[in-house]
Amino acid sequence: MTRKLFVTTALPYANAAFHIGHMMEYIQADIWVRFQRMQRDGEGDQRRPREVHFVGADDTHGTPIMIAAEKEGITPQEFVAKIAAGRAQYLDGFHIAFDNWYSTDSPENVELSQGIYRKLRDAGLIQTKIVPRFYDPVKGMFLADRNIKGECPVCHAKDQYGDNCEVCGAAYQPTELINPFSVFTNATPVLKDSEQYFFKLSDPRCYQFLKDWLNTPGRLQPEMVNKVSEWLGESGEKLADWDISRDAPYFGIPIPDAPGKFFYVWLDAPVGYLASLKNYCAKQGIDFDALLNDPATEQIHFIGKDIVSFHLLFWPAMLKFAGHPVIDKLKVNVHGHLTVNNEKMSKSRGTGISPLRYLNLGMNPEWLRYYIAFKLNSKVEDLDFTGDDFVARVNSDLIGKFVNIASRCAGFIAKKFDGKLADTLSPGAQQWIQRALVTSEGVERQANIAANFEAREYGKALREIMEIADITNQYVDENKPWILAKDEAKTAELHDVCTAALILFRQLTILLSPVLPGVAANVTKFLGDSQLVWADTDVASGVVSQAMLGRTIGAYTHLMTRVDAKMIEELFDAPGQQAAAAAQPAPAEKPAKAARQAAPAAVAAAPAVPMPEGVEELAPQISIDDFVKIDLRVAQIVNCEHVDGSDKLLRLTLDVGEGRLRNVFSGIKSMYQPEELVGKLTVMVANLAPRKMKFGVSEGMVLAGSAKDEKANPGIYILNPWPGAAPGMRIR
Ligand SMILES: [Zn+2]
Repeated sequence: MTRKLFVTTALPYANAAFHIGHMMEYIQADIWVRFQRMQRDGEGDQRRPREVHFVGADDTHGTPIMIAAEKEGITPQEFVAKIAAGRAQYLDGFHIAFDNWYSTDSPENVELSQGIYRKLRDAGLIQTKIVPRFYDPVKGMFLADRNIKGECPVCHAKDQYGDNCEVCGAAYQPTELINPFSVFTNATPVLKDSEQYFFKLSDPRCYQFLKDWLNTPGRLQPEMVNKVSEWLGESGEKLADWDISRDAPYFGIPIPDAPGKFFYVWLDAPVGYLASLKNYCAKQGIDFDALLNDPATEQIHFIGKDIVSFHLLFWPAMLKFAGHPVIDKLKVNVHGHLTVNNEKMSKSRGTGISPLRYLNLGMNPEWLRYYIAFKLNSKVEDLDFTGDDFVARVNSDLIGKFVNIASRCAGFIAKKFDGKLADTLSPGAQQWIQRALVTSEGVERQANIAANFEAREYGKALREIMEIADITNQYVDENKPWILAKDEAKTAELHDVCTAALILFRQLTILLSPVLPGVAANVTKFLGDSQLVWADTDVASGVVSQAMLGRTIGAYTHLMTRVDAKMIEELFDAPGQQAAAAAQPAPAEKPAKAARQAAPAAVAAAPAVPMPEGVEELAPQISIDDFVKIDLRVAQIVNCEHVDGSDKLLRLTLDVGEGRLRNVFSGIKSMYQPEELVGKLTVMVANLAPRKMKFGVSEGMVLAGSAKDEKANPGIYILNPWPGAAPGMRIR
């Protein structure tokens, strides 16, 4: 059966331009979608391309947009149209390939939202109650949740909106806020009676359904199952009815048979997923109802952890009791937030990086796609963007490992063999290909990588892809085509080596293409492929080599440049300018092109050159035997404290996996607070002779980096191993 995937990202609120957090979510979903599009389902002749429909839309309704439009003296419709017109430059700029971008302010959404409401009413799940609502006595209007701020009743974070808390993620009624105030006038809202419409989430049917739905294996991330289970309570007693109505004046969808009442924006926002799909189906000639009723159809949402309550309580319950056919195949993938240099960014307050500024600086969008993908996993964890880490990761992996293969081998094929690859491979070359693509346990790496893309474990997938790149580079390094090229007698060998390396390069390109669609498109042209599909990576079928042998390839052009660290400085520079950058129209030419033309990719680093100014000279060469004398271990900092009488040292208590703890002094006080180090992993010299110091005995040394001239550039930075490292592991 051919899987049919209906995939969405959370609908962005149409009151502002995209920020970097949006781009992270879209990149995450886009990679998954592109991976799915490369798959073929079925057996033998029945194999068919997987069907994927990836849609988004602007979330347009609600009071904030109404107020913003009023301020500009335009209608809410004109206001959201202006925002919508600015979306493409971001989506195209970062290669986000939505099939359709639509709006919740659309006839489809009115029809679908009202239809769902009527079905819920028929099922006895809508109830009216007279409730006191907040009213701004100065402005003379009822206040929407987002127009009231106050202290979160759950975690007591200050300055939280009236519907849900950005800090702890709790959903609540605005009446539950502590010390509420109107965002328009700062007046303390007064309560005024109003008839409101509620979705009866407290109905036992909702609890029963949600409990089963949440606990279906494979549907939700375990941490989400736990979190939502807490919200349900032991037997649903914690589920409160949900107020889905707002009083006029309101920019939204009228509630049927209820004059002056509109759906609360969070009722019709997720229905916007369906509205966008319906609009897309009409344009494509696809039968919308048949698609939703098809047992092969799966509905998959990518969302952030801040809107979990809407997507894991209200939305599935609404769909279930409105008889939505895909409810049994509804999956919600939740991601953490993007932090920049370890600082939390907020949806409404923006962040340190403007995506448009990134593009306008000529930075390659695929650098960001790769970096984000490398850091993503299937857990609900925050992801940090750090400038130095970004430069190092991109330059090392994409330039040093991936692009380097083609730049070192393709030229010889053009110069010496008229662009034609060898017709056969030597047994040696075949063995290397096998070694690169199949693990020592006999598992094809492409199968592992596919499983990790499917499971949204992109970091794992990319690490395994880089292992293939490492083995390929090792092959090139050992066979040295640049030496073979100097010897006429070695022409056949040169042909063999470069052909094998380019076969592996093509494999790497296919595996990376969900993440690097632009580079993959250029490689497709260069290698003379029509398109890249996942089936072409199947080693057992022999297609990996056969597809390339004897093929004539095009001229190699540089695929990607290195990240210049200066760009990162400019990216973070002058926060005041970022708003201006965000407001600028997109440049006429796509910035990615400019970046590609800037400088050729660096070939393997040349050794023995003098160091640039400010960088310490290399120490005299040592042998591997010298190196192994130093026993470096992963250590956990179990405690850390100030040292009385020392302005330089911190006292660290380290666990090196020995069953005892060590006391180590380290001169890092200028850079770290003791409490931020506790629990962290680091690296220490474990076999250094103990040293008696003024403050006690130091049993080893923690490693840290610092500049040549510590006066001019005083930072000292301790090492922190990647997740997965454990105390006692040896560094080798
Ligand atoms: Zn809270």
